[in-house]
Amino acid sequence: MTEKNVATDGGLTEKEQAVIDEIEEEGIDFLRLQFTDILGVVKNVSVPARQAEKAFTDGIYFDGSSIEGFVRIQESDMRLKPDPDTFAVLPWRQKEESSSARLICDIINTSTGEPFEGDPRYVLQQAIDRAEEHGYDVNVAPEPEFFLFKQDEDGYATTDFADQGGYFDLAPKDLASDVRRDIIFALEDMGFEIEASHHEVAEGQYEINFEYDDALTTADNVATFRTVVRAVAAQHDLHATFMPKPVPRINGSGMHTHMSLFEDGENAFHDSSDEFDLSDTAHSFLAGILDHAPAICAVTDPTVNSYKRLVPGYEAPVYVAWSDRNRSALIRKPAARIPAASRIEARFPDPSCNPYLAFAALLNAGIDGIERDLDAPDPIRENIYEFDEEKREEYGIETLPTNLGEAIEALENDEVIYSGLGEHAGPKFVEAKKAEFKDYLVDVSQWELDEYLEKF
Ligand code: GLU
Ligand code: MG
Repeated sequence: MTEKNVATDGGLTEKEQAVIDEIEEEGIDFLRLQFTDILGVVKNVSVPARQAEKAFTDGIYFDGSSIEGFVRIQESDMRLKPDPDTFAVLPWRQKEESSSARLICDIINTSTGEPFEGDPRYVLQQAIDRAEEHGYDVNVAPEPEFFLFKQDEDGYATTDFADQGGYFDLAPKDLASDVRRDIIFALEDMGFEIEASHHEVAEGQYEINFEYDDALTTADNVATFRTVVRAVAAQHDLHATFMPKPVPRINGSGMHTHMSLFEDGENAFHDSSDEFDLSDTAHSFLAGILDHAPAICAVTDPTVNSYKRLVPGYEAPVYVAWSDRNRSALIRKPAARIPAASRIEARFPDPSCNPYLAFAALLNAGIDGIERDLDAPDPIRENIYEFDEEKREEYGIETLPTNLGEAIEALENDEVIYSGLGEHAGPKFVEAKKAEFKDYLVDVSQWELDEYLEKF
């Protein structure tokens, strides 16, 4: 990172001043300026807290060429512009000698002074703006699942489960509940409203749900959530992973994503005269997601490993259909007790995604469905895992891509989803993912060795 001396171009806003006051009150020593790269990896630039005012007025300069998917070396200067709404003290650092807080940043292109097009936060903001043009506010709530594994003597992650519990098991079998409690305390300290936390179906697997918020805040929250979970687990000498399928032949980890649109403070997805309590807007939105599903998949399920999760039999979706009942469908309509809670649940995203790009892809697809006034097909109420090919054909049910290569191809061929990622992030994302898939294709897996080494 290089810092430059640029003249202050104005004073502080009220919100910014409030953050500076809080930094002083809390005795914060360091500020972590956060953003995510195209792959969704959280990056930090740490500055002494006394730089806060300068960070708000001038921004903090950094070298964008060292960040995955950003810029080439010859055009590498970027500026971080902290968003004062995202100030939070990092609770797990407070026990140490110095205390830190974080601010999530937008990225500014120094040569134009405009937002950097490849900033994932900006890509999502564009999609939100598009919804806003139709008069909609976007609400999103995720259900991130993860595994807790033991570490070996040298501190490296293993795939030994941290406990032997099962779905909704209580202590004493759920040994990791102490860790989960500490994770929840840390999240609450950072302003999260935790709705529920439970042991998931697999051994060592958990889910923590937090309250819905606007799409941008929720994407910020997912990025923060992953950081907090990993940091607190590490304090307990455990490794938390959001890898979608760390252990074969048991459930993987999803990040089901609940979405609704609000218009003038009313839920635009609710219509009590509809059999499913869903409005025409909601039907079109979900039809848009079904229509673009293979391309969205490249963004919401962006790793080679993601496609080991999207197989029949483990509560993850495989087929492009929706349902008001079963969990094998791509989109589910969860039961809602009050009109404000009517929403749809996309069940295909996994927690290895870049949440900004993933929500942008889902949102662009949904808005496209609304713009084209698409009708949703009938919901499927049977267990689709049990359908044979003939029955799937009869119902006209397509399948999701079976690997990352197919998904990337679908993305490149889908104008709405691809261009929705923007001229910078779209091509960079595809380029990075093609390289990842190519590297995987030339590798030889343990399965192949076990299967063939002695046989041939
Ligand atoms: N772990 C499952 C998945 O991969 C979901 C289980 C659930 O319904 O919560 O999506
Ligand atoms: Mg779950």
